[in-house]
Amino acid sequence: MNKIDLLFDKKHIWHPYESITGQSNCFLVTSAKGVFLKLSNGKKIIDGMSSWWSAIHGYNNKRLNKALKKQIKKMSHIMFGGITHKPAISLCRKLLQITPKNLDCIFLADSGSVAIEIAIKMTLQYWNSLNINKKKFLTIKNGYHGDTFFAISVSDPINSYHKIYNNVIPKNIFAEAPSLSFYDVWNDIDFKSFENLIYKNHKKLAGVILEPIVQGAGGMKFYHPNYLKNVRKLCNLYNIPLIIDEIATGFGRTGKFFASEYSNISGDILCIGKSLTAGMLTLSAVLTTRHIADVISKSKTQCLMHGPTYMGNPLACAVANENINILKENKWKKKVKNIELELKKNLENLSNHPKVFNVRILGAIGVVECLYLIKIKNMQDFFIKNNVWLKPFRNLIYTTPAYIIDKDSLQKITQIIALSLDTDNFIYHSKI
Ligand SMILES: *Cc1c(COP(=O)(O)O)cnc(C)c1O
Repeated sequence: MNKIDLLFDKKHIWHPYESITGQSNCFLVTSAKGVFLKLSNGKKIIDGMSSWWSAIHGYNNKRLNKALKKQIKKMSHIMFGGITHKPAISLCRKLLQITPKNLDCIFLADSGSVAIEIAIKMTLQYWNSLNINKKKFLTIKNGYHGDTFFAISVSDPINSYHKIYNNVIPKNIFAEAPSLSFYDVWNDIDFKSFENLIYKNHKKLAGVILEPIVQGAGGMKFYHPNYLKNVRKLCNLYNIPLIIDEIATGFGRTGKFFASEYSNISGDILCIGKSLTAGMLTLSAVLTTRHIADVISKSKTQCLMHGPTYMGNPLACAVANENINILKENKWKKKVKNIELELKKNLENLSNHPKVFNVRILGAIGVVECLYLIKIKNMQDFFIKNNVWLKPFRNLIYTTPAYIIDKDSLQKITQIIALSLDTDNFIYHSKI
């Protein structure tokens, strides 16, 4: 039966970033608990991904389940137009408490990409309301902001295949990616490209958008806090709203609650998603200042032109509420620190491996950048055979485990990463 299901899956169902004909074999997962995924053959494997940065408390968490069940009995969903509900109100109260003080107004949306679209709309409507014609966005190469069209237009042009969408997506402006890493000694030269571009283009710039400190799906790079500090300074100087995309980095992943704390800055617009519901349901939020919200609201249109059907879904809000309760009570900071120390202890020595270009660790993120492209399907099979779930991309093997992961499981992950380097699952003629 499972075999037939998998064949059906392979033939008819698209998976993320896959072709429908040549797709890697998917593995059938029947349940998940803590840091384990249970496969249909009964095998339990350690999850090193936390479902793309989201399931920070592990799977099947009792408290999150309970919060959902409690809410389901009251109501699963009501429209958000004209009526409201406690789970949303209580979540937004909490969000204002845990985000920077300058942020005051919240838009609840359905996914990270949609949050980015809304953030972009906010800035465009802001300038439109002031009767100022500003339509371009400045960002940095290697970024990733999602898969909807405007989000693509500010994601790395090569990684997100701008060529395919030529003349469909707007043309935005890209500064060279920061070359100094989080741990390097700062040098102002690293900021020159961004500085020149903002100087040259500020009159047409509606906003600046970037991921703070950690560039995720665009290359898993950690850049220097001074870079972001300088971005904030110039956005102030030229009066350009700064959109901070903490969709991947938020909720403790990097060792700070928000990665922008490393630079002691705050955006004018903040996008959060992914771990907002701790991997339970899709939900994102866009927060902005009273000033931006007021300017938009005093315009001719008066409203922010967006309103998803499932906006502020009560189930998602209820579980996000409980996620924040858990984070407040449990020692996420210590847990993330311990993961960081363990990753450093067990991964950093791999930087001497002949197939490795660079190893980097920040908070609960461990990245091994290889010198060669990885044969993804073969590598995935190797990981599964060794009872670990990791999903490498391009030349990157990385882990973003749940904060609750125990030392043994984490060691198993790093051990298997080390072993994976000695396999033949690389494309040797494709040196990066
Ligand atoms: C995942 C991600 C997004 C997009 O979120 P989706 O929920 O997948 O649409 C946007 N920005 C960053 C930084 C992300 O990591």
